[in-house]
Amino acid sequence: MSKRIAIIGAGLSGLAAAYRLVSSGAEVRVFEKSKGLSGRAASRSKNGCRYDHGANYFKVSSNEVARLLFQSLPTDGLCRIVGDVDTFDESGVVTAGDPGQNAGAKWSYRDGINTIGKRLVAAAGLEVVRDTLITKLIRCGGKWSLATAGGIAGEGFDEVILTPPAPQTILLLESCQEIASDLKAGLLAELGRVRYHPQFTVVLNFPGTLPLSRGAFALINSDRGHDIAWISHENKKPGHVPAGESLFIVQMSPYWTEHHYESPSEEVIATALEKATPFLGGDLPPLNWSDSQRWRYAHPFTAADPGKMRPAAAVGLYFAGDTFIGKGRVPGAIETGFAVAQEIRGE
Ligand SMILES: Cc1cc2nc3c(=O)[nH]c(=O)nc-3n(C[C@H](O)[C@H](O)[C@H](O)COP(=O)(O)OP(=O)(O)OC[C@H]3O[C@@H](n4cnc5c(N)ncnc54)[C@H](O)[C@@H]3O)c2cc1C
Repeated sequence: MSKRIAIIGAGLSGLAAAYRLVSSGAEVRVFEKSKGLSGRAASRSKNGCRYDHGANYFKVSSNEVARLLFQSLPTDGLCRIVGDVDTFDESGVVTAGDPGQNAGAKWSYRDGINTIGKRLVAAAGLEVVRDTLITKLIRCGGKWSLATAGGIAGEGFDEVILTPPAPQTILLLESCQEIASDLKAGLLAELGRVRYHPQFTVVLNFPGTLPLSRGAFALINSDRGHDIAWISHENKKPGHVPAGESLFIVQMSPYWTEHHYESPSEEVIATALEKATPFLGGDLPPLNWSDSQRWRYAHPFTAADPGKMRPAAAVGLYFAGDTFIGKGRVPGAIETGFAVAQEIRGE
């Protein structure tokens, strides 16, 4: 295969697709708007700590993903998280989590969950053009060019794979003047069905060793009535938090986030601290430091049908990402990348 393929987005769906396509001889270039790799499977370093402030952990859902993560890519630093995910209700009462769910292994990496993306890039020798927001798709003479606000970022591609969340993919499709209007309308209608929850992540670092309720790794709100959706203890991940400190990830509920999306970060952090306090033992020392992140398109809760996007293959356009699984999942995103690579390879 000697096709030239552009992939928009260096999240795990885009990088998984790139990894597979490079192995079959395609020339692949990935364009990413941010400076990092792995998209929403995001990790950050601050004051000697490492933490996963997007996807917090992953479970391995298929043999294909297991082969990738446990055989094909290096496994050093891959760590199984010890501890259960327990539940709490809208009044903050904590109970044991689902034993079936807790029986499944939960994973991250010593260096953070974004290690997956870094390793896909290294293993495939991928070229990732970072810090490059693609704003326009142009088709000319049967080839694709990609443009930023500043001009052409890449040209001469036979195929383009779009992996951003549906609303961002819609903007890219709308920018393209050269595809037939009925094809474009069908693609836009399908993508337009996908809805996302936003999520505010707050990171709290305290001096001393503080456990979560019941000594759990994480607590999840089971009735969706609490302003907090999830709290987890990064200390349960080897290498993430130095001894003598405690670091918690607090994910505010989608409902709460929706209503406070434009609030200043300091206010959101103060609310997260107040609402998380009962789960951290109640009598807390003053915070060492905090951090936060707004995720506009955190989790899709409806899915687009990949079958309805297939007519776009006639003009060399393909799609991947959790847009097509209807929930935010690391392994699911990887699988959509593998699936689109398979489609392009004609398997
Ligand atoms: C707060 C939060 C918690 C989560 N928790 C979990 C969890 O515990 N377990 C789990 O399995 N999953 C979790 N998820 C979901 C998981 O992170 C996602 O499903 C998965 O990472 C999606 O991968 P993707 O490749 O589909 O999309 P993304 O990771 O969003 O990748 C798309 C990429 O495209 C880039 N991009 C967008 N537009 C453009 C453009 N125009 N030009 C160039 N680049 C562009 C983006 O910057 C991004 O890097 C969570 C997500 C969030 C946000």
